[in-house]
Amino acid sequence: MLYRTMEKTGDELSVLGFGCMRLPRKGMGIDEERAIRQIRYAVDQGVNYVDTALIYPGNEGLRYAASKGLGVKRTPAEWALRWVWNHPEVTVVLSGMNDEQHIEENIRVAGEANPNSLTKKELDIVGRAAEAYRATNRVGCTGCRYCMPCPAGVNIPGCFEAYNTDSGTLQSKVMYHLRVGGKMDGARPAYVSLCKDCGKCVKVCPQHLPIPEVLREVARDYETLGARVIGGATVYALRLMRWNTMRNA
Ligand code: SF4
Ligand code: SF4
Repeated sequence: MLYRTMEKTGDELSVLGFGCMRLPRKGMGIDEERAIRQIRYAVDQGVNYVDTALIYPGNEGLRYAASKGLGVKRTPAEWALRWVWNHPEVTVVLSGMNDEQHIEENIRVAGEANPNSLTKKELDIVGRAAEAYRATNRVGCTGCRYCMPCPAGVNIPGCFEAYNTDSGTLQSKVMYHLRVGGKMDGARPAYVSLCKDCGKCVKVCPQHLPIPEVLREVARDYETLGARVIGGATVYALRLMRWNTMRNA
């Protein structure tokens, strides 16, 4: 494990911090036995920074969809960690870890990733991966849900996820209406057009996204009359199919 010094306090922190937002789950709660084993293992390997907060547990992992067959045998997570640690100004990287294999991999990389250690070729690979990632993700939402709940009922991360999936294809528009419109699970509609522009979400978004502005873009693209009609027709067709299946069962 490598360590870096905090400029202000002089504390020697392990370059890998254990983010406890994504501890392993069992049923509706945390798998405590496994989580304790994982944290002890990380501490035994030299991790001396563990991050937690009241609002933690219960979120999906951040997916770094960057590597597109770029040829070197590293996982996307390893690439991401090596890139971040390449910056000398970075002291600790907090990684939400809930899988033993991921913890072992992160600890291995944390013992090797010195500042300014990436070669030009490696930096180019990361640059190309970043371009590919941006091309398929129109909004840089990580799904952290800090902006939720929205007082107007908009499912902000859900809308952005649908908007990022398949980038504007007819299929993604239908999926948007099925998912955000509550047509599949009977939940209250949570369309972007419900946004009242109160600005509450903007203040808490760690990615500093201009959320209401982007939501308006999503509405322009995904809430057109055509998309609504096709979405409605798809729901009707799915219900008909389900009814037919039940009748024939
Ligand atoms: S700006 Fe819109 S999306 Fe954001 S919290 Fe207010 S109503 Fe919800
Ligand atoms: S706070 Fe920002 S990044 Fe997090 S889910 Fe909301 S919009 Fe996405």
